[in-house]
Amino acid sequence: MKLTAKLIEELVSELAGQDVVPLVEALRNKSNVSELKLAEQLKREINTIRNMLYRLYEHNLVSFTRKKDKKKGWYIYYWTLNSNRVKDLIAEVKKQKIHRLQERLDREQQTQFYSCSEKCVRLDFEESHDHGFKCPECGTLLDVENNKHIVERLAKTISEMQKELDELQKEEVPVKRTKVIEKSVKKKTRPEKTAKGQKSAKNTKAKRKISSNKKSTKKKRK
Ligand SMILES: [Zn+2]
Repeated sequence: MKLTAKLIEELVSELAGQDVVPLVEALRNKSNVSELKLAEQLKREINTIRNMLYRLYEHNLVSFTRKKDKKKGWYIYYWTLNSNRVKDLIAEVKKQKIHRLQERLDREQQTQFYSCSEKCVRLDFEESHDHGFKCPECGTLLDVENNKHIVERLAKTISEMQKELDELQKEEVPVKRTKVIEKSVKKKTRPEKTAKGQKSAKNTKAKRKISSNKKSTKKKRK
């Protein structure tokens, strides 16, 4: 499974909203794209574009660098899609889905289900016993259900998804970075002093950065 436009679209619309999808497409396979250019390309107001970018930034899906416009005195922001982060999140979502399916499969394999000929209900032994082994819907006798096809279908889906996940994790995402981006990335990934809760500390840091960034943008742009 490649990191396709469709996979990216699914993830991005789930995390940041459907409206952000064209923006992500515009950022794909590029680096340091000016937000002014994005606004022009997508024919949206600059503030709308910024709002979308912040939503992506909140999930660490984009990174930025900025340059001061010497004539106008304000900052212009340049954005890059974090393809590796996108890939990691897609893999994460897939892992969770596999986990839920595995739980269902376990239950199917460990439980003896009972159903009537009309398949109105599926009950485990205890529930069937409570109903005197009669269908609570149609009243006919409940019989042991053969769930072999359900087990097989679940097992097949899990193995397919696992294969997709393995392929995705094998795939190297080419990262194009300018020197400026390298610098900002280095800063971000600087190891925290405490090993414990390193991830959350990093997240908080990123959030703080964005909020201060928002403030300074407001001040400077008016
Ligand atoms: Zn029934």
